[in-house]
Amino acid sequence: MDRRNFFQGSALMATGAVVGCATPGIAQQQVKTPFNVPATHIPIVGSEDMFPVRRIYCIGRNYAAHAREMGSDPTREPPFFFQKPTDAIQYVAAGTVADHPYPTLTKNYHYEAELVACLGKGGRDIPPDRALDLVYGYSLGLDMTRRDLQRALGDEKKPWEIGKSFDRSAPIGAVHKVGLTGHFIKGSIWLKVNGQTKQNANLNQMIWSVAEQISRLSQAFELFPGDIIYSGTPENVGPVVRGDVIEMHIDGLPNLSVKIV
Ligand code: MN
Repeated sequence: MDRRNFFQGSALMATGAVVGCATPGIAQQQVKTPFNVPATHIPIVGSEDMFPVRRIYCIGRNYAAHAREMGSDPTREPPFFFQKPTDAIQYVAAGTVADHPYPTLTKNYHYEAELVACLGKGGRDIPPDRALDLVYGYSLGLDMTRRDLQRALGDEKKPWEIGKSFDRSAPIGAVHKVGLTGHFIKGSIWLKVNGQTKQNANLNQMIWSVAEQISRLSQAFELFPGDIIYSGTPENVGPVVRGDVIEMHIDGLPNLSVKIV
């Protein structure tokens, strides 16, 4: 019996242990499932291909002034990471204003404008001087946050998961291949609400560069193609309410806009 027939002949194994331990991207195509679970993809500019999202990593407090406003010391302590589920992605096409639903359970819903690095290669223990080789392209996105829940849970020393990792908490633009944009070391990053500037900084103010983020992240997790990294937000995060329009910008990428509904 070859490997393919083995998977098809054993429903228990195929739906459980075997797939769960398998190499990403391989075994999933070889099994039958009783229903479909949609995968998450983001359009790639200038290509028919879609970028498949494997994991969403986010870095916390990566701009000194934002670290201070969140109540921590912005000295160069190691970066920390958290994740959002891949189906938190809300793709927003350039030139459109997508409706973004105000989530449940919060009365203090915050924007965080961020550069997103999208990986086309993986690995473990990647040195910083090789880390950018993993980058397939870049986008820009919003790390939307139920700030009241994040703060309250943090104060109680509980996981602040539901403050960060909820449905549609990760609006994102299309992926731009690095060959077209180059790497993002510096450049303006800003966010406006209803046309009024709220966040306004430069990517060169990141405490940990994208290369350093990838290197550190690869010490904690084996990285794979399809992993994306929200690289942290500058200072002056703040709340939005229904009816507000958010527009964000990073030099070299088209702006991203959503309306809170
Ligand atoms: Mn963030």
